[in-house]
Amino acid sequence: MKYAALSDKGLVRPNNEDAFLATEAAIGVADGMGGHEGGELASQIALEEASKAITSMERRPKATLAKIFANANSAVLRMARESQQTGMGTTLTIAVLKKQRIWIGHIGDSRAYLLRGGNLEQLTEDHSLVGDLVRSGGLSQDEARTHPKRHVITKAVGTQKLIKPDIFSLTFEDGDRLLICTDGLTNHVEPDSLSKLAAGGSPESACERLVEAAKERGGSDNITVVIGDINGASESKPDRSSTDRRTVLSRLFGKNGVN
Ligand code: MG
Repeated sequence: MKYAALSDKGLVRPNNEDAFLATEAAIGVADGMGGHEGGELASQIALEEASKAITSMERRPKATLAKIFANANSAVLRMARESQQTGMGTTLTIAVLKKQRIWIGHIGDSRAYLLRGGNLEQLTEDHSLVGDLVRSGGLSQDEARTHPKRHVITKAVGTQKLIKPDIFSLTFEDGDRLLICTDGLTNHVEPDSLSKLAAGGSPESACERLVEAAKERGGSDNITVVIGDINGASESKPDRSSTDRRTVLSRLFGKNGVN
């Protein structure tokens, strides 16, 4: 998979609580919540767990994804307890390529899309109050994007002892483009624009176009976009991701890392 990622704090928020994972074999985003850097920590910790499990992934992608979510959940709960923070949590949406299939693990209101032959298909369901309302027919997609309670999510990593992520797979084709993003993009850019802006050019240029569009439309939240282009050679060995445990530890315990 040829990939690119871009994260921007947007125009309103003082810090960036989003994080991403981008490797040849897996891409993902996490959108953290919680005060006093809790959100930033939660999203980083979740992706760090993802990165560890993917690096050692064996034959069973479904089990690996389930493990990622269970480990990320325990790690965020543990961190919240140790740092005495309440309200810490994060969305987590990951796509892993294995055995000619795209495996998706998802919880929260970040999204995965598949762009195939000019069509953009949303692969994930939002675990959010407005997502539930849209599915029950009580709200349109357009109304959901500006609804005052659009930020209320119904499931997240780190909010309860046991979590139930959505885990599923689909067959990939040469030329597929995967797009994984946080709600800072989708609350500002409607599906039509999204599919136009996401198509064509390199993954890097598509990431730039999408982030720029979200900022032009207000940039009210952190915006994170990861794009992966799938080709015949996509199922390569997982490589080390860019998340770094030392960064997390130094944030918690000061500049020198472990206390
Ligand atoms: Mg967000």
